[in-house]
Amino acid sequence: MSINGLQVIELIKEINKVIDENKSFLTELDAAIGDGDHGLNMSKGFSAVIEKLKDDPGHNIGDTLKKVGMALVSNVGGASGPLYGTAFMKAAGEVNGKSEIDINDYVKMLNAALAGIKMRGKAELEDKTMIDAIEPALSELKKALGEGLNPVSALEESRNKAYKGVEHTKDIIARKGRASYLGERSIGHQDAGATSSALILETIYEYVKTLK
Ligand code: ADP
Ligand code: MG
Repeated sequence: MSINGLQVIELIKEINKVIDENKSFLTELDAAIGDGDHGLNMSKGFSAVIEKLKDDPGHNIGDTLKKVGMALVSNVGGASGPLYGTAFMKAAGEVNGKSEIDINDYVKMLNAALAGIKMRGKAELEDKTMIDAIEPALSELKKALGEGLNPVSALEESRNKAYKGVEHTKDIIARKGRASYLGERSIGHQDAGATSSALILETIYEYVKTLK
């Protein structure tokens, strides 16, 4: 099972839709322990992404994802813009020149994306950031594929772990980003960036599922 460049673009459009639908929710989450702009930031960023992909023929998935990353970096003011931007650019680097990608490419892409986020933001697991959704999702994806699960089921398990990670952000103290200024008072609140990451991973799963 593999997906082509035009399908990647279609998937990015789905992500834009989901981000837009969850704009107020993400903003509310960020308002509780941050500055209440995460939904706005993400929606503004992905609108710019869609604009940038308008004439993309989908021949080179690396090139497409590089444009996604660049649009996010240059159109999102918050911390999440450079972080998601780096993630997409690092993922792009894994598939440069490819017109089709499969689940093994995706593992490499998610791996590179996570490494990029960590490098850029200097955060680790349990710091109450997007990493708390992405890292467990990546570990589960590798584990599930290693156990012989098909790509769609592996993506489903991985998505479940992302949401478990999001839930867990309620129990921990923020150590990075604006929420870290609150210290212990950040406990009880779910991290906005972890939530947007889980939404993106869920959209990837839902999209790939329809291709079965
Ligand atoms: P800002 O915090 O600048 O207002 P956003 O509200 O768009 O930016 O994004 C906030 C989210 O970014 C947080 O919920 C968290 O998940 C994520 N984040 C913040 N700092 C870091 C970091 N150093 N590493 C990883 N993720 C981070
Ligand atoms: Mg914010």
